[in-house]
Amino acid sequence: MRRRDFLRTIGGAALASCTRTGPRGPRRREVDVLVLGGGLAGLVAAYRLQARGASVLVLEAAGRVGGRVYTERDFSDGLTAEAGAHDVHEAHTETWDLVHELDLPLVRWPEEEAITVCRWGGRRSVVPSASLPHSAPDGLSSEERSAFPEILDFLLERDVAALRGAGTPLSASVRSLDGESVAARLQSIGASPAAREVVRRFLPVLPEEASVLWAAWEIAADDPGVLRRPFRIDGGNDRLPEEIRRRLGGAVLTGRRVTDVRTDPAAVVVVAQGPDGPERHASRAIVVAIPLAAYAAVEWQRLGETKREAAQRVRQVAEAVTHFEVRASEHLATSGTATSFGDGPIAWTNATAAAAPGRRSILEAWSERHGADILDGAGRDVEDVARRDLLRLFPELDGAIERTHHLSWRRFPGIGGAGAYFGPGQVGRYLAELAAPEPPLFFAGDHASERPTWTVGAIRSGERAAEQAWAWLRR
Ligand SMILES: Cc1cc2nc3c(=O)[nH]c(=O)nc-3n(C[C@H](O)[C@H](O)[C@H](O)COP(=O)(O)OP(=O)(O)OC[C@H]3O[C@@H](n4cnc5c(N)ncnc54)[C@H](O)[C@@H]3O)c2cc1C
Repeated sequence: MRRRDFLRTIGGAALASCTRTGPRGPRRREVDVLVLGGGLAGLVAAYRLQARGASVLVLEAAGRVGGRVYTERDFSDGLTAEAGAHDVHEAHTETWDLVHELDLPLVRWPEEEAITVCRWGGRRSVVPSASLPHSAPDGLSSEERSAFPEILDFLLERDVAALRGAGTPLSASVRSLDGESVAARLQSIGASPAAREVVRRFLPVLPEEASVLWAAWEIAADDPGVLRRPFRIDGGNDRLPEEIRRRLGGAVLTGRRVTDVRTDPAAVVVVAQGPDGPERHASRAIVVAIPLAAYAAVEWQRLGETKREAAQRVRQVAEAVTHFEVRASEHLATSGTATSFGDGPIAWTNATAAAAPGRRSILEAWSERHGADILDGAGRDVEDVARRDLLRLFPELDGAIERTHHLSWRRFPGIGGAGAYFGPGQVGRYLAELAAPEPPLFFAGDHASERPTWTVGAIRSGERAAEQAWAWLRR
C-alpha cells in the first residue's frame, strides 16, 4: 500500500493551540508538537502530524515557507524562475507522490531536447544533451576526449551501479564507498590528469573532501536516461510548500527564528525571536527540521554530542544562482544548456527558454564551489561578473539581457549553503545518528535522510519524524 493511501485526510484535524500572554513573560503557545523550520521537511512533518490529530505549530525564521524550495517571481510578464529545488524527478517517489496528493500540476522541463554547450578550457563545443555524459562534446583534444569513458567508469558504471543494486543505501557494500575520498579513488584507478581535471571541475565539492558514496548519490539522482525525467510544478515549485502551508491553516508562523530549546518540568519550551520580540512556545514534542548548519545558532539544552559534532564537521555545498531576464528577437534564438568545465563562475546554464524568438524568458545559471567563490568575492559587481561569463558561453545574447538577479545560498541566514555533503567516513559516523530521535526531540531535514540535498530526502525525513513523534505522543 502506498503511503498516501493510508494517511488520513486533513479535513478533520484539530488545531488545539492556545495562546496566553502573561504580564511578566512573552507570548506562550502550547501544542502537541512544535516544528522548527518551515522547509519541506518541517511542513511535511507538521502536515502528517496534523492529519493524525495532533496539534502542531511550525516556527519558520524567514518571512516565507519553503526554505530551499524557492521560486523567484520578481520578473516582468509573470515569469518565474527556480532558485532552489529545480527538478521534480519522476523516480523520486515521495516528491512525486506528494505533488500528486496535493493536486499540483507538473510540466516537463524542455531539457531533454536541448543542445548542450560545454566550455572546456575557454573553448565552446556543442553536443545534444541527451547523449551527455555518455559521449564527449566535440572540440576536445584526444586526451580530453579519452577522459570521458574513464569518468563514466569511475562515477557511473561502478559506484552508482553498486548503489542501485544495494537496496538500502546504508547496506554494508554501500558503506564501503563511504570511507574513500573521490581523490583517492581517482588515484587508485590511475585516472589520467584530464579525467581528474574534469571531476575536479564537475563536482560541486573538492575531490579530497567528498566521499565516493556522496558523489555516487549525486550522480545516481542525476544520471541522464535513468532517473532523469525532470518536471517542474506549473507556476513554480514553491506552490508545493505554499499548498501545505495553506492546508495547515494557522499552524505556521513565519518570521520566528528559534534561538533556544529547553526542557521545562512539564513541557519542552522553545524561544523564538518574533516580530515583537522574544516569544515562548511550549509543546510535548519537537520536530527539529532546520538545516544542520543552522544548529549552531540555537542554544540546545539537550542535543546529542554526535549531532553537535556533525553540525560542526559536515560541510555545506556552496551554490549560487543567477537569473537573467532575456528578450529574444527573431534574430536571436539561443538554445542550449551550457555546462562549464572551464574557469568561469558559471557551472551550467539552461538557455533553452530563450529559444522562442520574440518572447521574454529567463536564463538560469548555477555556480558551484569555485564559481560560487568567484561570485561571492565579486561584491557589488556580482551580477556583472555572472553576466560576462554568460556572454562568454552565449555571445549571441549580447544586448538581449535586460535584467540580472543573483543569490547565494551560502548567504541565506538559517540555511548556510545549498546542502550538506558528507566527507569521507562521515556517512558512517553521522548519518544514522542525525536521523535518530532523542525524545522529546525528533529530527528531520534532507541531511537526516539517505538522500541529502534532494527534496525526496527532506520529505522522507519529515514523514519519518512525524511517525516517530506520533508514536511517542501515544505511548
Ligand atoms: C540550488 C539548489 C538546487 C536544488 N535542486 C534540487 C532539485 O532539482 N530537485 C530536488 O529534489 N531537490 C533540489 N534541491 C534540494 C532541495 O531544495 C532540498 O533538499 C530541500 O528543499 C530541503 O528541505 P529541508 O526542509 O530539509 O531544508 P530547508 O529547505 O533548508 O528548510 C529549513 C528551514 O528552516 C528554517 N530555519 C533555519 N534556522 C531556523 C531557526 N533557528 N528557526 C526557525 N527556522 C529556521 C530555514 O529558514 C528554512 O526555511 C536543490 C537545492 C538547492 C539549494
